[in-house]
Amino acid sequence: MQNQTRLRFPQAEALRLIPEAMARKYTAIPLEVTGNMLHVAMADPRDIFALEALATQSQMRIESEPASQQEIQEAIDFNYRSYDEIEKQILNISPNGETAGKQIKIDTSTDTPVAKVLRLVIDEAVKARASDIHIQPREDNIRVRYRIDGTLHDMFSLPLDTAAPLISRIKVLANMNIADHHRSQDGHFAVETNGRLIDIRVGTTSTVYGEMAALRLLDKSRASMTLQELGFLPESLEVYQNMLKVPYGMILVSGPTGAGKTTTLYASINCLDSIGKNIITVEDPVEYRFRNINQIQINPRAGITFSAELRAILRFDPDVILVGEIRDAETARIVVQAALTGHVVLSSIHANDAVGVMLRLIDLGVEPFLVSSALIGVVAQRMVRHVCPECAGPVSAPLIERVTYCREMGEERSEFLTGRGCKTCAQTGYLGRTGIFEILRLSDELRLMVLNGASLAQLRAQAIKDGMIPLMKDGMTKVKAGMTTPSEVLRKAYTTE
Ligand SMILES: [Zn+2]
Repeated sequence: MQNQTRLRFPQAEALRLIPEAMARKYTAIPLEVTGNMLHVAMADPRDIFALEALATQSQMRIESEPASQQEIQEAIDFNYRSYDEIEKQILNISPNGETAGKQIKIDTSTDTPVAKVLRLVIDEAVKARASDIHIQPREDNIRVRYRIDGTLHDMFSLPLDTAAPLISRIKVLANMNIADHHRSQDGHFAVETNGRLIDIRVGTTSTVYGEMAALRLLDKSRASMTLQELGFLPESLEVYQNMLKVPYGMILVSGPTGAGKTTTLYASINCLDSIGKNIITVEDPVEYRFRNINQIQINPRAGITFSAELRAILRFDPDVILVGEIRDAETARIVVQAALTGHVVLSSIHANDAVGVMLRLIDLGVEPFLVSSALIGVVAQRMVRHVCPECAGPVSAPLIERVTYCREMGEERSEFLTGRGCKTCAQTGYLGRTGIFEILRLSDELRLMVLNGASLAQLRAQAIKDGMIPLMKDGMTKVKAGMTTPSEVLRKAYTTE
């Protein structure tokens, strides 16, 4: 499995050393460079002629390891095709010509080499099911990385002098100020790839080596998700749906970045919209546009802040207010006030678990009696990768995973359904993601304990007594159902950043 992931994502520096034709001739794929050693996976790792040819070509010592002929051919197909095309286009980029701001400003043509490189980078990202593309200049090259199912992979390394034209091209498309290289900027554009319209949200910022860009590829289907599709266990879904039925109060979603909080908030909005509630959102940034919902984009630089907007929209008599995130004391205070004056307020907040959210609000200066009266409930969540159904089979797990599973589920098990890697899942063993959740609905006992200043451990014990299924148990229940793996749950449940 480890080996297959390496075959799927070789280092760009390694690929550069061996041309495609040679890789095919010897059924070998370069994987990585360490010092003056080139690691190569080969169908026949003892083929003396091949080893010598690879060493001569790369001017490096060759460390070979075995892999099946089919695995190597697939890796060559996947990695060289786009890489060669990108290389070819890069040769045509003349850094001086294209960076001369004036020329690029009017040049919106799509067939310049820079435009083609960007296009290839985006197409490959979509093919690889990436959610983000990071373009990061370093001391001697640009690193292009994809985030796939939550994990960053190094994909390409480009010559440093392509950085300026590439970033400028992105800024032109995203309607950003291409003359300003110092301040952080954001914008968005859309591209059509393989018949699908992909919205891309762009952020740029300057680093010591130049500007870097992060591109988030937005899949529109995410905005129309229903609560049923998020991955709640049946009993959790019922608890959450009942929470949404309250006439007023605050419902918060917590988890680290990338935990799917926005998707849960949007699914909640879709649910409330379907029962005819007047909904207003205040977001930074607005990720998806809904047809019938009033959405306000925050812009602190223009004086449009969360707190200013919140005060204003209370006058429009909404039933439901979605506030993107509670980041500061002032927003927390206004959100609580809105919840106590007859509105349902949905928002996200940074905290490790459901119980931690209550203490986080108190940390932000909200009085404990306001927390205990305004808060309806909390969802703490993470995203875990879904086992690829095409290549899944039972695999024995390390002791720590078996022990954790047994502790949560009360049954011993040594093997778990795990993907071995195949074409469908790009050799990762995982395909898509699902949520794991901890859903807390505040009971009267818990409200009293918040008022009386109970500790995190005391609150958590009471929450579990009240029926809250902890994140780890929710995750292991999904392991039992063959949806994900123990290692994935362990890794994500303890992630706080
Ligand atoms: Zn697979």
